[in-house]
Amino acid sequence: MNQTHPPTSSAYNPFRVAQQQLDEAAKILQLDPAVHEFLRWPMRELKVTLPVKMDDGSTRIFHGFRVQYNDARGPIKGGIRYHSEETIDTIRALAAWMTWKTAVMDLPLGGGKGGIICDPKMLSAGELERLSRAYIRQVGRLLGLEKDVPAPDVYTTPQIMAWMADEFSFQRGYTEFGVITGKPLALGGSAGRGDATARGGMFCLREASKALNLNLKDAPTAIQGYGNAGSFAHKLGKELLGLKIVAVSDSRGGIYNPDGLDYEQVLAHKAQTGSVINFPGAQFVTNEQLLELDVTVLIPAALENAINASNADRIKARVIAELANGPTTPEADQILFAKNVCVLPDFLCNAGGVTVSYFEMVQNAYDYYWEETLVHERLDKKMTTAFWTVHDVAQRHKVHYRLAAYLVAVNRVAEAVRLRGWA
Ligand code: GLU
Repeated sequence: MNQTHPPTSSAYNPFRVAQQQLDEAAKILQLDPAVHEFLRWPMRELKVTLPVKMDDGSTRIFHGFRVQYNDARGPIKGGIRYHSEETIDTIRALAAWMTWKTAVMDLPLGGGKGGIICDPKMLSAGELERLSRAYIRQVGRLLGLEKDVPAPDVYTTPQIMAWMADEFSFQRGYTEFGVITGKPLALGGSAGRGDATARGGMFCLREASKALNLNLKDAPTAIQGYGNAGSFAHKLGKELLGLKIVAVSDSRGGIYNPDGLDYEQVLAHKAQTGSVINFPGAQFVTNEQLLELDVTVLIPAALENAINASNADRIKARVIAELANGPTTPEADQILFAKNVCVLPDFLCNAGGVTVSYFEMVQNAYDYYWEETLVHERLDKKMTTAFWTVHDVAQRHKVHYRLAAYLVAVNRVAEAVRLRGWA
């Protein structure tokens, strides 16, 4: 799971971005000042310190977080990231975006996020397992079906979810797989969870193309990031929509071929060499150059802050389908809106993952499992409904899709906060 790194600019703070986005929506919604202030902050945060025995016999200390942003609409939901540049403010921003994500999808859930500061590529499988179990030993007290249900995110996998669910079950004294989603199928995972983020994004893009009257067949497409979301977008973009994927990248750089890149071949090359770069017949491009290619569809599927004030003006794509969380800054949003570039915002476009996570929770609760086709059908319905709800609000208020999605989501969370008598 390779992801590109965000530029280490001290000026960029994702939590400030998340608050700024909320402030804009609050103004239009004329939100009650107390409700607005309440929604600007996480409800609860836990910082943990994790001693882990390394393979060489030494003990290393890691730092982790769990941020429970808001549970007005239901239990906290959101992934756990392993990243060397993780900060509390990144986790806060991602936790806020999870809150808006579950709300815009109308799932009966709140939002949160967790993370550990670490570089998983430098850890052995045994070290990774001990670190993951150590995290649950500390954070487990916050978790549970009715309280907070984590999932995978950047650099975390179904195997890590399996270790975590197992550790939690030992804490409780009985097996409770439903405490975590994105698990392997053998331990209560859901069919269709693996590619759900990309699949949901493709459904969203399909609906947007109807609204824009845009033909996606053979549309040149560039994908930044080749983790779970980016690599499945390569596969499903072609399979479901007929997109021509001309460029893809990972943390080491990108490859470009205007005639298209074959998914199976690129995947095999990456499996063999560890990266997509040096793929035969393709030209090398940097991650920055990839964003500015002459394409119809651009899919940022890596990390925050990829499209900002310094490059938004040079983006040539007609549609940006955000599979990453937070890839576009508010300044870039303004520039792209003025250029008539359609941005399908992260917490709508990448909500397929959490939507199938919710399906996984439901299946775990009933201990009765759905066919993959049923998961796809229900995901499609959820994504389609959410897209058109946001589209209608965007038309009505003459705002871009991100702001429209905020208007829908914040309104729903604010209503729950008011009805519960919190503010
Ligand atoms: N980490 C994913 C996201 O950012 C999935 C979260 C979940 O399934 O709970 O949406």
